[in-house]
Amino acid sequence: MISPLSLQQLQGRFGGELVGGPVSFEHVCTDTRALDEQAVFVALKGEKFDAHDFVADLEGKVRGLVVDREIPDCALPQWRVPDTTVALGQIGQLCREQFNGRVIAITGSSGKTSVKEMLAAIFGQRHKPCVTHGNLNNQFGLPMTLFGLEPDHDVLILEMGASGPDEIGYLCGIGKPQVSAVNNVMPAHVEGFGSVDAIAAAKGQIYTGLEAGGTAVINADDNYANYWRDRLPEGIHRLDVGLGHDCAIHTDNIELDAEGRPTFDLVIEELTHRVKLQLLGEHNVHNALVAAGCAFAAGVPAAEIASGLDLVAGVKGRMQEHRAAGGATVIDDSYNANPGSVAAAIDLLAQRRGKKILALGDMAELGADAEEMHRQIGELARQRGLDALFTLGPLGSAASAAFGAGRHLPLNNFRDRESLIAALARELNDNTTVLVKGSRSAQMELVVQALTEDA
Ligand code: ATP
Ligand code: UDP
Ligand code: MG
Repeated sequence: MISPLSLQQLQGRFGGELVGGPVSFEHVCTDTRALDEQAVFVALKGEKFDAHDFVADLEGKVRGLVVDREIPDCALPQWRVPDTTVALGQIGQLCREQFNGRVIAITGSSGKTSVKEMLAAIFGQRHKPCVTHGNLNNQFGLPMTLFGLEPDHDVLILEMGASGPDEIGYLCGIGKPQVSAVNNVMPAHVEGFGSVDAIAAAKGQIYTGLEAGGTAVINADDNYANYWRDRLPEGIHRLDVGLGHDCAIHTDNIELDAEGRPTFDLVIEELTHRVKLQLLGEHNVHNALVAAGCAFAAGVPAAEIASGLDLVAGVKGRMQEHRAAGGATVIDDSYNANPGSVAAAIDLLAQRRGKKILALGDMAELGADAEEMHRQIGELARQRGLDALFTLGPLGSAASAAFGAGRHLPLNNFRDRESLIAALARELNDNTTVLVKGSRSAQMELVVQALTEDA
């Protein structure tokens, strides 16, 4: 926090009921197992617990409480509100309002964390950025990031995620960005939205939620670029980024080295800088374009953007290369999966040398078309010439079947992780690359762990 807040201030601004004496605080905590004497405790309800059940004996351990009901026999000052999750956001909003630096927000179906890490590297060279920690991009994580604002921070970089229609608008109301971007739209979390069009509309709230005078960074290569351009509010600047030379920021001469690390010309207002990424995959060129657009809109000079992109190190679980048993290579992309990011992974794998195996855990939350999307992924893997597709989970059988159709290949669809690991282990030698990917629920990182632990 930049300066202390008080429960009085919050009640004055947002309503609710104040119980007990005046109290100011500098920290916020939400877990009775990790308390802090300078903090107020916000009681949240989760899937397993309701933190209201643990607040009765917090006297002397925190400054005050934010609760949604009366707490019997508790002398701590309290702010009683209808919804403590909303209150958490309101505290975050006041932290944001104390901040005078620039604020950048990124959403999209994939690559948000990657773009965020790129921005952290670009700004880290000469600024003190406050950045979304890990993947804390929702109604809980975004306020937590704002609580971490300190007086010496001069730029705030927020990842915003959504699994339903009005979430990005809600997060913008708290974070109030001045520069924002939708990285891309793909069928991810379709279940929460209904359709891909609905996803595009929901993500577009990051533009309508801009502060007046702000800049919308638009990925001109996305199918929905025109949709967003047509809906930009009055007084918002537009900055197009993309592969096309008509974009103010574009790329040229993209080359991939033998491992799949891209080198490319980054052209910013007609000045060209050669960038060499340490990250794998051509999709990271697109992520770099969006990061460059956001940084440029926030005033970073072109040369500094290019040198920052050179520095970005990988993020765990996102295309990290490891050595496995028998001298094989394992690419760990186990962090998450949707059809768009699996296609990016197939592209990366396809241009490696030697035997190429994709180990895919089921993609979750795809709604009614889930099986068809798995089938298409199997077909894509086959078209791109992968040597084998090993799948884990019931949806994977559609992918495996499409991959092997008419070729008398073993189905290679596994019901449990242990049999998948055993089958993969038999394939490992110094001529093989296995790319491991799947939705969070598939826990494919355990496959990576098993394949790499004796290497
Ligand atoms: P989440 O929604 O889980 O927060 P995210 O949007 O933050 O995800 P990342 O963590 O950066 O995305 O990357 C997630 C996955 O998407 C990784 O497997 C990565 O390889 C892939 N990916 C990243 N950028 C792109 C892109 N521009 N196009 C396609 N796939 C991508
Ligand atoms: N909680 C707590 N003390 C406990 C257990 C849980 O304060 O001993 C809090 C926890 O930090 C969270 C809330 O209760 O804010 C709900 O917990 P749960 O584990 O159900 O939620 P999750 O974190 O999984 O959303
Ligand atoms: Mg993320």
